[in-house]
Amino acid sequence: MKKEQPKNVNDTLFARSRRTFPGGVTAAARLNKYLGRPFYVSRGEGSRLYDLDGKPYIDMNTSFGASLLGHGHPAIREALAEAGRMGIACAMEYPAQTELAEKICAAVPSAEMVRFTLSGTETTWYAVRLARLYTDRKKVVKIEGHFHGFNDYLQFNYWPGPGENLPHIQPASPGSPPESAGNVIVLPFNDGPALERTIAEQGGDIAAVILEPVNYNSGCILPREGYLQKARKLTEKNGILLIFDEILSGFRTGTDCIQGHYGVTPDLCTLGKAIGGGAPLSAFAGRREFMKHVAPEGAMMHSGTYNANAVNILCGNAFMDAVSEEGVYSGLLDRADRLYRGMNEAFAGAGFPAKVRGLGCRFGMLFGEAAGRVPVSYADVIGQDWKTAHAFFLEAFNRGVFFNNGWHHGISFVHSDADIARVIEVTGEAARAAAASS
Ligand code: PLP
Repeated sequence: MKKEQPKNVNDTLFARSRRTFPGGVTAAARLNKYLGRPFYVSRGEGSRLYDLDGKPYIDMNTSFGASLLGHGHPAIREALAEAGRMGIACAMEYPAQTELAEKICAAVPSAEMVRFTLSGTETTWYAVRLARLYTDRKKVVKIEGHFHGFNDYLQFNYWPGPGENLPHIQPASPGSPPESAGNVIVLPFNDGPALERTIAEQGGDIAAVILEPVNYNSGCILPREGYLQKARKLTEKNGILLIFDEILSGFRTGTDCIQGHYGVTPDLCTLGKAIGGGAPLSAFAGRREFMKHVAPEGAMMHSGTYNANAVNILCGNAFMDAVSEEGVYSGLLDRADRLYRGMNEAFAGAGFPAKVRGLGCRFGMLFGEAAGRVPVSYADVIGQDWKTAHAFFLEAFNRGVFFNNGWHHGISFVHSDADIARVIEVTGEAARAAAASS
């Protein structure tokens, strides 16, 4: 009789979790495609994640961008301890909330007033609702390949497959009311004439244009010169609110976010991920003229039991203090540039079809045919060769470097020179091994 192999700790936990969670995971994106199971961790510290056996990995996902300070930053740990001393104080008002709002308004160009939220999904949903209330119009322009969470308003054409992309318009998940599609107009990124045409034809019905000012969610597609400025001008002229979704892009280039980097100030912006230092904190912010329409000053209802709780607010303050220290970004941005250059040299040296494109401390990696061009819109990356990507990620993982199986990656403030050097070294080794195994 064949002897049954003892199951390892990961397989055992996955089998157990499949009985209680759909698909065995607590969020769909956490089923790691190249491992065929989640990447289970016991803890994170600094730039490292530790698996259930205690093996360290350099973390190139940084919690989808939420752990910009690194894991277990001392100021965040202290904030958590202080929140405990405050008794959590959920659903109450206290000074640290105002302090954090003031720090955000001082740093982020479009922010004159702020409301705190928890997830990005709810935040973009509120921002769009505010634009609809302010303009008394229904339609929203969004961009193909730009991700804004899974609310019914915006979850259209995130990463459609070939033949399902524009001109087709469809929700990223079934279950939305079909009417939602009637209120969304999906356009390609960086297409100024298409935006101009759409606004000329339907501007009187359009409440907002929402976009990722840098499209990290489709592999770091940068705005073409003049595109954001054009969007700003067209929206302003036609009474449409311009919303920059900076939930991912915020704080990657500096405390003024991507809007400050490009010098284009939207009417509203959404922030998230990094600002909580790992705690669940997001926010929508904007000019007083718009934000004053939020209840109880205005009519747009926004409330919630967990809004601005002590845990995420104290962590948010600790985050803002840490990133506002003089000179902290110069080292980070220098290490990021060295990483991108080094990885691209390693890919080229291995003759491997992959390309890193980054801005600030977050980057995309394109594989196969998609690596060969400078992408302008989602249509340029639709041919992303995920099979090659996953082969590379798996080889890197086996060498102690964790890349998530998705569109964006990044480093934190505590990824060291030695970490950067090791990731570049592993990139060359993993690329050669992946090429040999294909
Ligand atoms: N907007 C952007 C640009 C994002 O990258 C994300 C998440 O990746 C979201 C919105 C949704 O945020 P959350 O996952 O907190 O719901």
